[in-house]
Amino acid sequence: MHCLRVCSVKSALILQLHKGTNLMNDLLEQILADCTPYTSQGHVATYIPELANVDPDRIGIYISLPDGTEHFAGNCMDLFTMQSVVKPLILLQALMDSGIDTVRALVGVEATGKPFDAFNYSDQALTGAHINPMINTGAIALCTLIRGETYEEKFSRLLELARHLAENPELCVDEAVYESEKLTGNKNRALAYLLTAYGMISDPVEKILDCYFKACSISVNCRDLAKIAHVFANHGIHPATWEHLFPAEYAKYVNATLATCGMYDGSGEFALEVGFPAKSGVGGGIMAVAPTRMGIGIFSPALDKNGNSVAGIHLLEEFSHRMYLSIF
Ligand code: GLN
Repeated sequence: MHCLRVCSVKSALILQLHKGTNLMNDLLEQILADCTPYTSQGHVATYIPELANVDPDRIGIYISLPDGTEHFAGNCMDLFTMQSVVKPLILLQALMDSGIDTVRALVGVEATGKPFDAFNYSDQALTGAHINPMINTGAIALCTLIRGETYEEKFSRLLELARHLAENPELCVDEAVYESEKLTGNKNRALAYLLTAYGMISDPVEKILDCYFKACSISVNCRDLAKIAHVFANHGIHPATWEHLFPAEYAKYVNATLATCGMYDGSGEFALEVGFPAKSGVGGGIMAVAPTRMGIGIFSPALDKNGNSVAGIHLLEEFSHRMYLSIF
């Protein structure tokens, strides 16, 4: 407790120092320069063919602070697809539409210790307890709990939520990435049929997957992710207008799931080295939530073996150390 207080007093001082002097921008430029070499240590995702066309050297960071200021460096306005970064929004929309009990009954919250698209459930019957909202099976199942007569309507609600939280009415689907994943996403089809076989979902698989693939293909920049993250950091309250966008208990639910499962098999290491909730995607984005402090958006598409942005994680490590952001 004492340490936490000291750290936040320290970082409040740092923030004050940065305010008005542009030191924050300098800090971001500096860590970006330090971390850029790590882009050569990863590889862009190729299993969705369209993602293979992304330049692996891109790197950007954007932060949104409670005083309303925003700071950034690098290729922070580049567009990329959310991919799994949309999973916290699918979870949030399911919570808002169906409530905590229904969500928890369908999808659990334990880390799986397996890749995000693992489907080796053969040794045990697939149940909610074996999955969580941050892996593909969990997110696909949760699409069914979004309110809407049709899957088009469910997706529209999700897109509207993303636009609202990002304060960007222009967010839309990258059609090329969507078509590419729809054409090749047979592993996700296998997962959805497994969910059907074990009675966890009953709607037509292609309709559910269409909603899931479109959600993964929403095109964003680092600013959009920082803005969305900031609302989660602020427990569901818009940091500027103080509008209650969703209940604090949903923010707690999402943030806790991000802290334990958001970086897949890298979640433990990330908790140690960075120390706050975050969600990665194979498009190279990371949405990071520093509770009560700020929202952070990262883009760098060269990935490690877990499907997380290599340079992005290094950026967050550096930034967390310099700003005393770890919650642990
Ligand atoms: N659309 C991707 C998939 O389902 C998302 C995976 C990810 O970003 N880790 O395979």
